[in-house]
Amino acid sequence: GEALAVSARVAPLGSRLVLLLVEDLTEARRIEAVRRDFVANVSHELKTPVGALSLLSEAVMDASDDPEAVQRFAGRMQIEATRLTNLVQELIDLSRVQNDDPLEDAEPVRVDELVAEAMDRCRHAAGTKQITMASNVWAPEGSEQGGGRRAGGTTDLSIWGNRGQLAAALGNLVENAVNYSPARTRVGIAARRVSAPGGDLVEIAVTDQGIGISDKDKERIFERFYRVDPARSRATGGTGLGLAIVKHVAASHGGEVTVWSSEGQGSTFTLRLPEAGTARDRAQQQPDLD
Ligand code: ADP
Repeated sequence: GEALAVSARVAPLGSRLVLLLVEDLTEARRIEAVRRDFVANVSHELKTPVGALSLLSEAVMDASDDPEAVQRFAGRMQIEATRLTNLVQELIDLSRVQNDDPLEDAEPVRVDELVAEAMDRCRHAAGTKQITMASNVWAPEGSEQGGGRRAGGTTDLSIWGNRGQLAAALGNLVENAVNYSPARTRVGIAARRVSAPGGDLVEIAVTDQGIGISDKDKERIFERFYRVDPARSRATGGTGLGLAIVKHVAASHGGEVTVWSSEGQGSTFTLRLPEAGTARDRAQQQPDLD
């Protein structure tokens, strides 16, 4: 509606200019709407644990002569406080990946280290559900980059990027795989080099045997605060921000994240990111523009 009004007002101008103006204003409005939604979502997400904390502290005061009840309420307060801390931490992470140029302090980041770090981060959660985690970092022998062949068939496979952001992205994917899987299942992380027209890529696939994601939800899970099942996500300490962070990190590194899933069978999230040697070589080949 508003876009139409704008086009009517600027109609006397050249048609191309009109189109540009309209597009510009619609884009500005869209960004504004996204921002408003985001603030509303953040406020809502903050209000929930804060409200719970407030009620629980009243309950503690009322139950001061019942030590057992006090214990119980205090335990729940701790859960809500943890939720609040997670949310604030994820908001900070999200704003960081959105605002910082990840390639400003880019370096070759070893994939086997990233994978080990992501698995360490989830070891406790996986252990309590008896979920087995297995990884396979592999780069075929004789491919041009990497060199340094090591025992067990693993060569040096590295991504050109920001270590902290890459660790956050992969950590989130492995964490989700564990969170959205039933007990005694398997989470696999497989990394390999694939060639692509723009240069070699590192492909990291995180596969689970979990609840899966419907086609309808697949389109939305990368949005901030979108959760298929909010109650389940909250129960595992989820904030709905994880995949938004993953998507941002992938895009800002010149890569992508995709999902394959079958409901009730499991999911595979795949990150494709520029391989270290390739990206650096490309940057060095670029003419100096100053
Ligand atoms: P959350 O903090 O809720 O995990 P994410 O942004 O990481 O937020 O994920 C968004 C939603 O996508 C989750 O709430 C969940 O419904 C769904 N999801 C993410 N990863 C998986 C997975 N491996 N299996 C099934 N569902 C998943």
